[in-house]
Amino acid sequence: MSDYRLAVDVDGTLAASHELVVDFLNKEYGDELLEDERFAFLQISDYNEIGDYFLKAGISPQDFYDILNNKWRESPEEFSFIEDPYNVEQNLRELNKTFETDIVTMNPYPDNIQRWLEENGIEKDKHYGRIISLHDEGIEKTDLDYDFYIDDNPNMVDKMEYHHSLLLYQRPYNLNIKERIGPLVKKIDSIETANEILVTWKNKLDKLEPDSELFKE
Ligand SMILES: [Mg+2]
Repeated sequence: MSDYRLAVDVDGTLAASHELVVDFLNKEYGDELLEDERFAFLQISDYNEIGDYFLKAGISPQDFYDILNNKWRESPEEFSFIEDPYNVEQNLRELNKTFETDIVTMNPYPDNIQRWLEENGIEKDKHYGRIISLHDEGIEKTDLDYDFYIDDNPNMVDKMEYHHSLLLYQRPYNLNIKERIGPLVKKIDSIETANEILVTWKNKLDKLEPDSELFKE
């Protein structure tokens, strides 16, 4: 394993969390909404406007996260993987061999996440080192100073230090983000792509002289 550290997000990166909340809202409130006003996951085109999208039905951003967190507390088995869990399992295992890999989440129920991962064949030590919840910590993921982040949250782009790199997991609400060189932001559409890119980066980094310009193509 190298000295490079990798943080992998859960909600919206491994877990189809927003889809679950949207389904829940349609079940709860769908009858009160006209067909064309029903919630549709693909209409959430801006992460920062998730709140605005639901506000028209009286769902505040806090309500949204309360629903999400309640699901993790009460029924984590309802969460699906965004990708085929087998592919995620294979690639996380590879990543954890190459990098010091942690699952890092703002979610308040890391124990339930751990069980959910286990039930899908993703195990502590084999696929990741630790599950870290920052829910009550009052700090950002970037404060933990990982070298690499796999995450769907576009707001991380503006919080990264120059030596951080973000693999932005593509979701409808972050498609407007542009790739850039430093701090490095690269869009990915699967954990397999993340694995391929990170191994390439690591090989480049391993060959760099101390004063080389990082990632210069
Ligand atoms: Mg996320």
